Amino acid sequence: MYRTHTCGELRMEQIGQEVTLAGWIQTVRKFGSINFFDLRDRYGITQLLFNESLNDKLDAQPLGREFVVQVTGVVTERTSKNKNIPTGDIEITVSDYKILNAAKTPPFTITDDTDGGDELRMKYRYLDLRRNAVKQNLELRYAVGRAARNYLHTRNFIDIETPFLINSTPEGARDFVVPSRMNPNQFYGLPQSPQTFKQLLMVSGYDRYYQIVKCFRDEDLRADRQPEFTQIDCEMSFVEQEDVLNVFEGMMKYIFKEIKGIAFEGDFPRMTWDDAMEYYGNDKPDIRFDMKLVNLNDTVKQKGFKVFDDAELVVAIAAPGCSEYTRKQLDELTEWVKRPQIGMSGLIYVKYNTDGTLKSSVDKFFDEQQLQGWAQKCQAKPGDLILVLAGKEERTRKAMSELRLEMGERLGFRNKDEYKPLWVIDFPLFEYAEEENRWVARHHPFTAPKPEQIALMDDMSQYANIKANAYDIVLNGTEIGGGSIRIFQRDLQQKMFAALGMSPEEAERKFGFLLGAFEYGAPPHGGIAFGFDRLCSLLGGSESIRDFIAFPKNNHGRDVMMDAPAEISQAQLDELKISLVK
Ligand code: ASP
Repeated sequence: MYRTHTCGELRMEQIGQEVTLAGWIQTVRKFGSINFFDLRDRYGITQLLFNESLNDKLDAQPLGREFVVQVTGVVTERTSKNKNIPTGDIEITVSDYKILNAAKTPPFTITDDTDGGDELRMKYRYLDLRRNAVKQNLELRYAVGRAARNYLHTRNFIDIETPFLINSTPEGARDFVVPSRMNPNQFYGLPQSPQTFKQLLMVSGYDRYYQIVKCFRDEDLRADRQPEFTQIDCEMSFVEQEDVLNVFEGMMKYIFKEIKGIAFEGDFPRMTWDDAMEYYGNDKPDIRFDMKLVNLNDTVKQKGFKVFDDAELVVAIAAPGCSEYTRKQLDELTEWVKRPQIGMSGLIYVKYNTDGTLKSSVDKFFDEQQLQGWAQKCQAKPGDLILVLAGKEERTRKAMSELRLEMGERLGFRNKDEYKPLWVIDFPLFEYAEEENRWVARHHPFTAPKPEQIALMDDMSQYANIKANAYDIVLNGTEIGGGSIRIFQRDLQQKMFAALGMSPEEAERKFGFLLGAFEYGAPPHGGIAFGFDRLCSLLGGSESIRDFIAFPKNNHGRDVMMDAPAEISQAQLDELKISLVK
């Protein structure tokens, strides 16, 4: 038997008992002729006291950090107790020990505040995973998954696995592809999500499905994206949007209660996509604070100020309590909006002084009475600073949305312990892809239009106006899930593919199986998928999803520990009938 107890287990009650522990040496301390070691395992840390009698053995078989050892000794009360750890009242007076495996000095300290940089910790991820902070994240991940499963199980959902080796049908992102040895010159694609399979399961009658499942997307990795990531993927039959929202709002509430002890009161707020864009400038509003965007077009245009007159959009926010910003602070904010990531050419401001006077950077063009009008529109109060951006509609709205978040951050309104979920509903069905010069599905091509708007699909000039029964769940400015009510009729699905510029032949070749299935009794259905990694990171109060994935990839999609992707042997290539271009 390697151990009688774990390193997190022993307390005063076991005093006098002889025990055997096994684990890793965390720290080594010497006081005169006595040696102290901290022994660590998954469950905690226990202090070991090595008396003088072991010194000869220690000289012959010294212990170093991260050595794997087995120790036997008696549980003793400590003279100086450590209130910070659960085992802090006791120590083991060791009578003998055995080195199970020696260890090289680790390249960084295995402590909460480690001295290892990102790359180094990624390369030695198995050591990084020994750190308490990372371990707690994985434990949290497990708990979140368990809570989701419990909730779904008690509501009749069944977990069904779907294949990873499927056809490549890129839509949205690029697919990862896998060559088939048995079918030369043919390739599998890895699923971007189990979307079509879960819909087929509805056709098969499994009316409540879920899966906590890996998805693969070969995207250019923006910060904090992973080429393989995990979704809580769900689908239901005989439901309308309202049913889906209720079930999954319930799931979020359950998870928050289980994991954080937080009980949300009442229903999650709902906001249309149009309103989200209008008042927050994006479709995942952070509603922990107000500072809504205000369209000033009607108020400020045609007053002789060219910047405004030429702009498609003049938009403002009122930053509370910022009227006393100094010249330097305002210059710095101006530089901030001029950064290429934001891309504006300037920033206009109005100080609404506490004495009620108004002072702006465009005093030449607007008198105080006019500025008063702006302030009113922005519902600004004395003491506020009104920030105004002007330019092309889309860019300006996006820039203001970023500026709002930045000001929210600077003003301390984005408290990570405060959770403000909401549903964003009524998404557009289509979206114009400028680079490709065509209409694409905003969500995916299986999303159903609002029934009363199906007729508009015959007229391309109406595409921008068609709304879908599609919804996202947003938490603190981050999209954590999204789904839709699906098309379940062959005709409508064909119409949708055609609207997306797919010929009937192409639609048949790519999605014939689904179109076919819709002819054999497909029930009305809809669903949702949650970004599991992201949900965990939000619950864990962290910015980075990587911290919640045991073996994540770096920003270039590489696993730096095993050094993947890598070349393969000529023999493998030959078998696959693949020749490389040099
Ligand atoms: N499959 C969709 C996605 O990955 C989610 C859904 O519509 O259920 O975004």
